[in-house]
This record gives sequence, structure tokens and C-alpha cells, in this order.
Amino acid sequence: MKTGTNHDLFRQLPSVDEVIGMPAVRLLSDTYTRDSVVDAGRAVLARLREEITSGLIDENSLKPALSGLAGAIEVQLRESLKYSLRAVINATGVILHTNLGRAPLSDAAIDHIRETAAAYSNLEFDLASGARGKRDVHVDRLFQKLLRNGSSSEPRPRVSTIVVNNNAAAVLLALNTLAEGGEVIVSRGELIEIGDSFRIPDVMAKSGAILREVGTTNRTRISDYEAAITEKTRLLLRVHRSNFEITGFTEQASTAELSDLGHKRGISFMEDLGSGALFDLRSLGISGESGVLDSLGSGVDIVTYSGDKLLGGPQAGLISGSPALIARVRSNALFRALRVDKLTYAALEAILMGYVRKDHDAIPILRMMRLSQKEIDRRAQKVVDRIASSKLNIETIDGESLLGGGAAPSCVLPTRLLALTAHGITADELCTKLRACDPPVIGRVDEGRVLLDLRTVFPEQDAALASALARIAA
Ligand SMILES: *Cc1c(COP(=O)(O)O)cnc(C)c1O
Repeated sequence: MKTGTNHDLFRQLPSVDEVIGMPAVRLLSDTYTRDSVVDAGRAVLARLREEITSGLIDENSLKPALSGLAGAIEVQLRESLKYSLRAVINATGVILHTNLGRAPLSDAAIDHIRETAAAYSNLEFDLASGARGKRDVHVDRLFQKLLRNGSSSEPRPRVSTIVVNNNAAAVLLALNTLAEGGEVIVSRGELIEIGDSFRIPDVMAKSGAILREVGTTNRTRISDYEAAITEKTRLLLRVHRSNFEITGFTEQASTAELSDLGHKRGISFMEDLGSGALFDLRSLGISGESGVLDSLGSGVDIVTYSGDKLLGGPQAGLISGSPALIARVRSNALFRALRVDKLTYAALEAILMGYVRKDHDAIPILRMMRLSQKEIDRRAQKVVDRIASSKLNIETIDGESLLGGGAAPSCVLPTRLLALTAHGITADELCTKLRACDPPVIGRVDEGRVLLDLRTVFPEQDAALASALARIAA
């Protein structure tokens, strides 16, 4: 009997064309494209059919549902036309989380983008001469200030820097320019893959250079490099291992040794640094992660690094090194295909200015790294105090935050975590509920609990996080 009734109900449903023809729905076409109205109409009808099948809608409730059709279509339209890319609350404690957009931009960077990108700018225009200029100049001058001298008072040779789409592009472009058709010597311990299909052997092949592996996975000596040099050798390459570490019985030629060897044999030495910090991580108690200045200081001729890892800026690939080599890379026709937009230059210029002015706290990821466990605990405690519910169990516990982005993978920063359990639902379900909040809250599950780390939550998001928890607890 039930199926028979359903059949009658289905027959009362209008067709998509009939729905689109309704005057109230036709009005929506003034505000939205016809296709999006049709899609919304289809989705609403499909939902009605499902609700009839599941018995949610019967004879009595079908009429009101049909009279509310136009309203339902408008709600559906608004839902489906929300932005897909949205801000989320990163409570994972991973500061450079590639899936969550890596480094958040500073206010200064956003202001500078707004100022220059909402209008015309002198991106490639020399204001003094009125002639065509180069987009490189806006950030190269600041990189020069930051990379000229490190801790030593001795002036370093001049360094030039150019910008491409990301570090993968930087590596590709540099290899293609400096080694196409020739050999590049790399240690077997550095033939890495980092997330999302960046593999050194593959990038090498695409660049047209030939990979010459030396040494073993755990030990590569300077003599291994030396023995592999032939007249075909174009480059010595060192690659930051990023997401993994080799410990135990290991040996790695130092950058200074590689640089000496390169200079002795007239071969350039390149380092793919990956993260590329512009500040001294040792000041945060993080050791074993060398920065861009360390590389250049130990004799690397050309270094590639990301704009949105430890530098804390927009997605970009930076190539810094001796002006002669950089000029060659810059004149490669591929540069035009890999160059970046004015938005990136504006953001980078603002971030670099923060470094030159030593305004480190203006750079969000640096601020997060410098947060003390005590400060994080104070904020976590305030969140706990706001949740009074028997449904949600919440306490603070010691934990560890990660840098992420492949930098110093074994280095952790001590933090305080919110540890949550909820009655009647699993930790995974609780995590799903948190992701469904607006803004979505991203946490992690560990041993049956949901862990939230406020190190990566902006203090101005604490209230939103607390209300998300309060709503779940209610
Ligand atoms: C992250 C990383 C890359 C890729 O950088 P993107 O900016 O993500 O393209 C390349 N090499 C190393 C060593 C890295 O750590």
C-alpha cells in the first residue's frame, strides 16, 4: 500500500520545467544565472523525492512542501553559491599545514595587496624614467638587505633573488637553466619525495638534466661526489630531506665541503633548501635547520626555497644566489611561464619589510612559533572555563606543536592542548562535528580524544572556537 501511495505522491511533483516556469522562481533568474536556478530546482525536487521515499513526506505534508518550493530553491541557491574556499580554524598545532594553506599572511601583506592590486601599480614601470621596468626589483632590493651579511661583519658578495610560482618551479627552472643536457650529482640519501608528487628524480627528468646518484642512502662522502665528476657534470646538488630524517650510522658531506669541491672544479653548487628560513631558528631553540643565510654563507652558489614555508609569506619559489647565475636563470624562456602575479610581489614585499624592520611579531607564523606554553595554557584554560556541560568532557594536557612544511621534522614546540571527549559519540564523530561548524574547526584525533592546539589558532578566533564547542556541548 505504501508504494502505491508513494507513486501518487511522485505524480503530484512538478517537472523541472514547470518549477522553472513558476513566477516566483522565474524572478530568481534576475539575480542568478538560469543554469544555477535549474540546478537548484533539480536538487530541491530530488530531495523531495527522497523524502517521499523515506516516508518523511506523506499526503498531508506534500502540499505545504510544494507551496514552499520557490523559497526552498532560493535557500538551495544561496547554499550552493557560497564560496568553496573558506577560512578555517587550524587547531592542529601544525604551523605550516600544506592542506590548510601553509603560512597565513600578515595584515601588512593584505593591506599592501589591497593598496596595489585594487588599482594600477608600477609592477613593471620605472617611475623615475617613465620607461618599462622589471617586476623583480620590488623584492630583490629587500632580499639584498636581508641576505648580504649574516652574523659576521665581513661583507658578503652581492646576492640576487628572483621569484617564481613555487619552490617546485624554482628547482625545475634552476636545473633546466644550469644543467639541461648535462649531469647533476646528488646523494642517494637526498632523492626525496615530498607530498603531492614532487620527486627529485622526476623534476630532474623534466628539467632535461641527467641525475647522477652517488653514495648510499645513509652515507655519502665528499669523495663520492668528487669521483663522479666528469666533463658532463654541470651541477652539484644538495636537497633538504624535509619530511624525513636519517639517523644512526650516517654521513653527509657538509655544504662547505661541497662548495669547496665545486669551486675547485669550476662546477656550480645548488641547494634546494625547501623551507628557507630568513631568521635564526636557534633563537627559538630549534637546531639543525639551516636558513638561507647559512646556505649562502657556507658557499652555496644558488639556493631555492618556498615563500610560504618558514619565510611566512605567499606561495612562491625564491631563487637566490650569485648575480651571474641568477641572471642566467632569469633569462630562461621558462621564467615567463613560471613568473608570479602582482599579488605575490605585494605580499612578499610586505613580509620582507617585516624582516628588515625586525618586526617579527607582525608575521603570523613567527608569532605562533614564539608563543610560550604558558601563554597557550592561559588561553586554553579560558576556553575550558566557558564550557560547562556534562555532555562534553574538556581538559588541558601537555602536548607538542609541529613546524610542518618539511622543516625540522623531528623538532617540536611544547604546548598545551585541549583534550575533548563527548558522551555518546566517538572522537572521529566529534571531529566531524567540529569541521561542520562555521568557521570549521580542524583538530586531530589521538587515543580516542580530540586534541585542539591553540598555538595555531589566532587569539581573535578563541571566542569562535569556544562557541563552536559550546554549541556542540549544548
Ligand atoms: C617543500 C619543498 C619543495 C616544494 O616546494 P613548494 O613551494 O611546495 O613547491 C621542494 N623541495 C623541498 C626540499 C621542499 O621541502
